Amino acid sequence: MELVLEADPVKKRLRSIVQSGRLAHAYLLSGPRGGLQLSMARWFAKLLVCVASEAMNRPCNQCNACARFEDGNYPDVSSVQPDGATIKIGQIRELHRAFSRAPLEASHRIYIIEDADCLTLEAANSLLKFLEEPIITSVALLTTSRTEAVLPTIRSRCQLLSIGTQEAGDIVAELMERGVEQPIAEIASEIGGTVEHALALCQDEVFADLLEAMLQLSDEMAKDDSNPMLTVADRIIKPGFTSSQIETLLDLLVLWCRDLIFRIVGIGELFFKSEIDRLSNQSSLYNVERLLQVIRDCWDTKNRLRSNANAQLSLERLVLRVTR
Ligand SMILES: [Zn+2]
Repeated sequence: MELVLEADPVKKRLRSIVQSGRLAHAYLLSGPRGGLQLSMARWFAKLLVCVASEAMNRPCNQCNACARFEDGNYPDVSSVQPDGATIKIGQIRELHRAFSRAPLEASHRIYIIEDADCLTLEAANSLLKFLEEPIITSVALLTTSRTEAVLPTIRSRCQLLSIGTQEAGDIVAELMERGVEQPIAEIASEIGGTVEHALALCQDEVFADLLEAMLQLSDEMAKDDSNPMLTVADRIIKPGFTSSQIETLLDLLVLWCRDLIFRIVGIGELFFKSEIDRLSNQSSLYNVERLLQVIRDCWDTKNRLRSNANAQLSLERLVLRVTR
């Protein structure tokens, strides 16, 4: 296992960054869902605080610094997670205060911001000031599974590190080798981001039902004379889908909106090629701006589900926002 971990190209890169002494002020670690990027951010932080890492080329996991880091008691490392669905400005101000002081033990103060896509606009702007006037001895490690939802001004000030991503073509090829049909393989690859996640999606027996429910919902949200609330109740809530399955349905809806946008602007490879008539019908009822808003509303709904909001209420809220 250790050998596999050590061969990780991202860890290799992080090690060489530390060895070269050319540490940037901020990194954005992005990857598919599954918390890989958070483990990598924590590994990087531990590499920076461990007293033996230089000799061992990795965190030793035995020194006092490693132990306190694991217990969350290392003084120069702070982390911020979403409070509910968002990271709020007060949390970023708190960081500012802590980081105005010099590090106590390590060479740098390190702050980890989990799910940086959940920053409120105010919090993101406050963080931006921080990133624009970097304190020489601080390193920011931001993680996200939705790079495109991180404010572009923040993204542009971070070095981007892609974690655990594989070329989409490789994932599709591997899924097809395992008997998944190409259109489904392409969709699952896009949503899953890794062979493991994509395969889990394809093997989920309700994946086809989620796809059907998404298509029906998309039809009804586009038209005035239908009742999408009924579809939410009958096709999504009644079957008792788990929160993570409903998140997959929202991922499918985001992908669908992307296809609609591609259809409107006439570029891009479609994911739902077999639904070309449906795409054409719906795309005539939307404009690009509105579809981008639907995509943002889907992300917002996913955040709500992750902070244990009621699924039916969250989906009804989404439908109301889209159809208003
Ligand atoms: Zn150590």
